[in-house]
Amino acid sequence: MDKLSGIFKKPIKAGEKNIQIQVGINAGITLFPDDGDDFGTLYERASAALSNAKKEGKGDIEFFNPVMEEKAVSFVRTENLVDSAIKDNLFIFYYQPYFNTGDLSTAGFEALVRLKDKEGKIYSPAAFIDYLENSVYLKPFEEFALETVLKSIEKWHVNISLNISAKSFKRHDFMQKILNACYSVGSRLTIEITERALVEDIGKTRSLLSGLKFCKKQHGEEGICENPLKIAMDDFGTGYSSLFCLKDLPINILKIDISFIRDIAKGHKELALVKAIVELARELGLKTVAEGVETEEQLGLLKKLNCDFVQGFLLARPMPEEEVSKFLGK
Ligand code: C2E
Ligand code: MG
Ligand code: MG
Repeated sequence: MDKLSGIFKKPIKAGEKNIQIQVGINAGITLFPDDGDDFGTLYERASAALSNAKKEGKGDIEFFNPVMEEKAVSFVRTENLVDSAIKDNLFIFYYQPYFNTGDLSTAGFEALVRLKDKEGKIYSPAAFIDYLENSVYLKPFEEFALETVLKSIEKWHVNISLNISAKSFKRHDFMQKILNACYSVGSRLTIEITERALVEDIGKTRSLLSGLKFCKKQHGEEGICENPLKIAMDDFGTGYSSLFCLKDLPINILKIDISFIRDIAKGHKELALVKAIVELARELGLKTVAEGVETEEQLGLLKKLNCDFVQGFLLARPMPEEEVSKFLGK
């Protein structure tokens, strides 16, 4: 293998002037008969090894191993699943309530996508969201998601949060659609963007988010939106943001990641961390949501800390649209 990559490391001389061309290669290798005893199998498996090598970067050469094949098969399965979901409108939304911590009254819902196949099997985002977010289908999907959530807000007159991907957050036309939504639903709409996505390029994030606080009025003039949508930083604590960034970003809500809430009852240090986040957020004028509350003990501690909102399986699981009306008593 070293010999092979050594050959391609040397520049190739071309033309009369002996111009030096540097060639970068990737290769996938299969071994006969261990990896297959016919050309078709060996070729397919070499392709799987090659696509792995490409992911590792220029110059990488990989031998086939069975894990690569499993990954390739699962990728194709996901591709087919998402493909049919887009063609046949198989995406649906579940809604998980979040509650005011003090009296546990419903404060709003988070829209969480699911894929329901033709046999009625429900897939959660873990099965397809990474693929979807990196595919050409992201744009139609997120436009459908926004439309669905706006309709739900109008139907139930409740606050709803929509998760959006880092890519859509940077897409001007999609953000414009979100801005236009201020007219119809205003502050009932919250968009959730992960901390990781928000802190990737803090300067750009600041200008994108500030733009969302403005509305283009119907006659083209720009002004501060009277009912601006709310912006939540999702999975807070997992994105390595410096706390310093928080003071500069025009966000409204911090969603404290489930990993912190899970540990809150484990010890003094864990509790101190969540206490510090809640207090800092309050000082900065931000509301806090505790994600993934699963026990009475966690809820009790969050009440003591005056965390504004709580969300988790202890209080309510994500539910299909039909159940929301029942839940709201409508
Ligand atoms: P997220 O936005 O942080 O959503 C919270 C996830 O935690 C949801 O998983 C929810 O079902 C789960 N959860 C809520 N309470 C509890 C609890 O008490 N215990 C545990 N163990 N889990 C709890 P879900 O629905 O599988 O969504 C996973 C992630 O997929 C979301 O994380 C979000 O990042 C992404 N996602 C979901 N819907 C959408 C969408 O419409 N668009 C985009 N771009 N991403 C989405
Ligand atoms: Mg979320
Ligand atoms: Mg979250």
